[in-house]
Amino acid sequence: MKQQLIFVDKDYASLTAYLQSVPAKRALLVHGSSMLHLEVGQYLLHLPENLGIDVIEFTDFEPNPDIQSAIAGAVLCKTQGCDLILACGGGSAIDVAKCIRLFYEVDTSKPDFLQNLKPGTLPFVVIPTTAGTGSDSTHFAVVYQDGRKLSVAEPDNIPQAVVLDAATLVNLPLRQKRATYLDAMCHAIESYWSVHATAESRVYAREALRLLCAARLSYLQGNADVTVNMSMLMAAHYAGKAINISKTTAAHAMCYKLTSLFGVPHGQAAALCLSHLWPYMQNRLSAADAPTQQQLQENFAGIAAAMDCESVQEAIATFQQILKECKMDKLNRTDEETDDVIAALAGSVNVQRLQNHLLHLEAADFTCLYRAILKG
Ligand SMILES: [Zn+2]
Repeated sequence: MKQQLIFVDKDYASLTAYLQSVPAKRALLVHGSSMLHLEVGQYLLHLPENLGIDVIEFTDFEPNPDIQSAIAGAVLCKTQGCDLILACGGGSAIDVAKCIRLFYEVDTSKPDFLQNLKPGTLPFVVIPTTAGTGSDSTHFAVVYQDGRKLSVAEPDNIPQAVVLDAATLVNLPLRQKRATYLDAMCHAIESYWSVHATAESRVYAREALRLLCAARLSYLQGNADVTVNMSMLMAAHYAGKAINISKTTAAHAMCYKLTSLFGVPHGQAAALCLSHLWPYMQNRLSAADAPTQQQLQENFAGIAAAMDCESVQEAIATFQQILKECKMDKLNRTDEETDDVIAALAGSVNVQRLQNHLLHLEAADFTCLYRAILKG
């Protein structure tokens, strides 16, 4: 499926033309509270008067959304007879909307409904309001079931259209800008070295890294203009397209428990893991078999080139420096039960994601890595 990118212009003419072409009578609008302060949010809320599209709002979900929220949204979508799903927000809003679209097709009262998902049929348009998760270009959604992370995936569950509006980033809090920037950077780097990377996914990953590095100084200091903000939306979108093909790898497999234990933003957690993992891998290259060694050396060199660095060492140092500039290079904890915490962290690593990782890693490696991460 070819996904359409809609670049917002001053009077929303491109978005209006697209919505009129759908065509739809009643939209389920999934959004978080931040949408209300955005001009595009006001545009969406006035669709009934301006385009004759009724709007049913759905806001009953939290960050790291529970699957029950998505089930409730799907029921609302059915009972209200919605024929279009719009999602405006960060990764949580878009992921909930993806699940609603899938759950709309099945009977969610059946206990095994998750095993019998079918492709979604409702038109689906998303407006990302952060630049990082890449959820607008992936076919998977992260929700939680009984506190456990669940990745809901269906090959065709990619939004048909993504609305890119640079104005959505203007008032995004700096800490959120930085954490989501780091998330996009991890997506691009992990995608590049994933065992499932392809020539196409590497093109997306390289483009994401190029845009991220170009935006670094102004965006991470909160001085971005409209051009930089649009570049950031594109960078996150490309990084999402990259992981949509390759999936993420060990840094993402390691990062979720840091978020659930310490409340660290997802992007910071992933970047902390990657900032230790990358040099750890580089130092252990000689222990890998010859083909793995060669493949990783090529991947690392490709990432370094995309980051405009002359060597892999320089690229690693640059990545670590970016974390420092974001003031996100340390967990800042004082915990006495460090061994227990490290054991809990090492036991939490998502084994399925590790299959996407080229270099074999085991419990002792994770213990060593988490010890370094906690020490800061
Ligand atoms: Zn991520």
